[in-house]
This record gives sequence, structure tokens and C-alpha cells, in this order.
Amino acid sequence: MKKTIDLDQWMTSFIQEIEDQTQYLNGLDTAIGDGDHGDNMNIGVTKLDEYIDMHIKSSKRTLEDAKELFSIMSVVFLSNIEGASGPLYAAAFKRMAEVWNEEDYSLSQIVEAGAEAIAALGEAKFGDKTMLDVWAKIPELIESDELTNEKIDQLVADTENRLAVWGRASYFGPRSIGHIDPGAQSSAYFFKALIRGLETITG
Ligand code: ADP
Ligand code: MG
Repeated sequence: MKKTIDLDQWMTSFIQEIEDQTQYLNGLDTAIGDGDHGDNMNIGVTKLDEYIDMHIKSSKRTLEDAKELFSIMSVVFLSNIEGASGPLYAAAFKRMAEVWNEEDYSLSQIVEAGAEAIAALGEAKFGDKTMLDVWAKIPELIESDELTNEKIDQLVADTENRLAVWGRASYFGPRSIGHIDPGAQSSAYFFKALIRGLETITG
């Protein structure tokens, strides 16, 4: 059984979800940050959507080159988002573009490379209540064919009782416990959108 990815579906779903959940993400970031994570992500996906329309769809091309897409996403997130999440997502996307080999790719290895890039830049590890609490576990879920919305939701829920040790949330110290991490939630939207973009072809 081989899985292919509909990149257009993945990104359309991701963009839509961030647009729908901007205020929810801001709310999460208000509890343990400065309240802008939804706005930051919204800026990123709005610019991404514009770029895709202007440079890909307007020239009647379909979104099928993952290397091109993730390179674009890296630049878009790095240059438009002021919050800490911008460079972290950008680092993941850049690395994913680098390791994506169209001929023969392993999605779990690609996501793992993205997670490693986030860890290298942000220095956090799994369990530190960051976006990495989601990213670090996705590869094994893909490998075991258990990447489901429920599993992803659980990864986000698990951040609630953790202590934040990085970024603005760390300023809250023990008061960060009892709130889910905004970056883990936006990452969950990214991977839930991936589920929608995965098409299964038997053979
Ligand atoms: P800022 O904190 O600058 O306002 P955002 O609100 O957009 O930026 O993003 C906050 C999110 O960034 C957090 O919820 C967390 O998931 C993620 N984050 C912050 N610092 C780190 C880090 N060092 N490593 C990994 N993720 C981090
Ligand atoms: Mg913030």
C-alpha cells in the first residue's frame, strides 16, 4: 500500500483551519504568552495563500512540487512572522524541503527532519511544552499507521499539565501548568490537514 499526498488539499486545509481558529489560538497564547500566536499564524498562511495563487495557480500549475512548496513556506514564515514561532516553523519547512526526494520519500523521515530542525534552533526537547511536543511524535504515528485526529488531539492535550521552560510561556513558571501550548495546537492543525491530504492508493 502506497500513500501519496495531495499537497493542495494539505495546504488548503491548513490555511482554512488557521483562519478559522485564529482567535482560539490567540486565546491560548493569552493564557501563557502575549496573545498573538493566532495572528502570527494567520499572517503566515495568508501570505502563503497569496504566494500560491500568484506564482503557482495563476500560471495554471498545480501544487505538486513539495520541495518548491516547503521552500516557499520557509521563506514566507521567516520573513512575515515576528513571533518566535515564525523562525521555528521556517526551520522545519526548510529542512523538509531539503530532504524531500520526490522519487522515493518517507513521510516519517521528512517530518522527523523538520522536528530536528525545530529542536536545533529552539533547543527544546519533547515534553518541554512547545510545538515540539507534537512534531516529535508524528513520525512514529506515521510509521505505525496511527496518524489520526484523535492521536494528534491527545498530543496537544498532553501539553496542558506540563511546565513551560522555553519562550514567553516560561515566564509564567508553574502558572504555565494547566494551559495547552498554542504552538502545539497550531502544529496539530498542520498535521490534521496532512491527514486530509493523504490519499491511499492500493497496489
Ligand atoms: P511569541 O512567543 O514570540 O509571541 P508565538 O506566540 O507566535 O511567538 O509562538 C509561541 C509558540 O512558539 C509556543 O506556544 C511554542 O509552541 C513555540 N515556541 C516558543 N519557543 C520555543 C522553543 N524554544 N522551541 C520550540 N518551540 C517554541
Ligand atoms: Mg505569542
